[in-house]
Amino acid sequence: MRQQLLAPKDRKPIARTTYGGPQYVAVKGNVQRIELHRGCPWAKVHDFCYEPFEHEDFPIPALTKNQVQILDMNFLARKDALDIIKELGSKRVNGRVVHYEFICGIHFSLLTQEIANAMKKSRFVRPRLAWDGSFADQKKIKDSIKVFIKAGYKRNDIMLFMIVNWRIPYTECLRKLDVMKVWNVKVCDCCYDGGYKHAVPEYWTLEEMKDIRLKCRKHNQLVLFGIDPQPSINQYRSMKGVDILDKKVMVEG
Ligand code: SF4
Repeated sequence: MRQQLLAPKDRKPIARTTYGGPQYVAVKGNVQRIELHRGCPWAKVHDFCYEPFEHEDFPIPALTKNQVQILDMNFLARKDALDIIKELGSKRVNGRVVHYEFICGIHFSLLTQEIANAMKKSRFVRPRLAWDGSFADQKKIKDSIKVFIKAGYKRNDIMLFMIVNWRIPYTECLRKLDVMKVWNVKVCDCCYDGGYKHAVPEYWTLEEMKDIRLKCRKHNQLVLFGIDPQPSINQYRSMKGVDILDKKVMVEG
């Protein structure tokens, strides 16, 4: 089968990183964004990621907002991660508590019950796990979700990162979405390389990229609302067959 236009192999990587620069601390509206750690032990294995292999820890900067986003790619790779999570929970800004979010998620193999409990107690919201590997990791991911549930998080607060347009095939990602529906957790589809805006068909076709975006958006609506809030948008519209909603056929009973 003829492939779509492939990305030129010598193209420059699309990465907007702070690597090599000073610790990132910025305020965007009511949100403060900070960096506490760089480096990942899997950086030489996951060639879709620009995280450096060398590790670097940063101190907790002065907090100025009650919502703080931590941008680290793998915060739990930090050796004192548990202590830092607990310390963050004790911080106050203008006398009020602070809510935190690991924007890039955490790696399931570094998650422990103690870490999840500390995250909940320190007011970390919307926990995200990375499921960038194969479908074969499903049991490990399911166990990690249970750890978050036991810590007090609701299922539909939990999100799983899923890389698309990479070596994990389109159909395998659809199977991941199937079990995510059973688990009632949301998906963060992350398009290789540089996000949907910049990505070109690399390992998948353009149709597959567009289709998974549509299905992931619909997936999150279903998880959030427990019903399809936009039945006019059919996530299976590229497939053959008659859809009674598309045809506006009324069925009694
Ligand atoms: S994707 Fe996550 S686990 Fe993999 S190298 Fe990047 S930071 Fe590390």
